[in-house]
Amino acid sequence: MMRLSWRHLRPGELDHELIWLLVSGAAGLLGAAWLALRLPWPRCTFLAVTGLPCLTCGATRSAAAFLQGDLALAWQWNPLVFLGICAVVLFDVYALLVLLTRAPRLRVSLTHPRAGRAVAGTVIVLALLNWGYVLLRS
Ligand SMILES: [Zn+2]
Repeated sequence: MMRLSWRHLRPGELDHELIWLLVSGAAGLLGAAWLALRLPWPRCTFLAVTGLPCLTCGATRSAAAFLQGDLALAWQWNPLVFLGICAVVLFDVYALLVLLTRAPRLRVSLTHPRAGRAVAGTVIVLALLNWGYVLLRS
């Protein structure tokens, strides 16, 4: 269903590692600066309208706890956001390593026609489970 391979970038191929390392690094720095400057936190429109937390409620508090090194609290605020931050950190370490060492890049290809649907279904189930958790926690 899913095949992993390591290869060097082809001429003219988009350098995903460099692009997403820069984007996530800039987002992380902006977020850390936002929190350090004690600027107002984003307000949830869904919560304001319905009185119920949305799928991503707790994301800012989860990220703030993560940046302060309180991983258990980051998980408690929003597990899916916590896992997303962990995935970004792992990707950034990988991207930095392959960029600095000019090593082959990891590429993922879906080999079965239904693999894309299976991945999308898994993401939807995880999102709904996370939303259920956030609703129960509120
Ligand atoms: Zn929300």
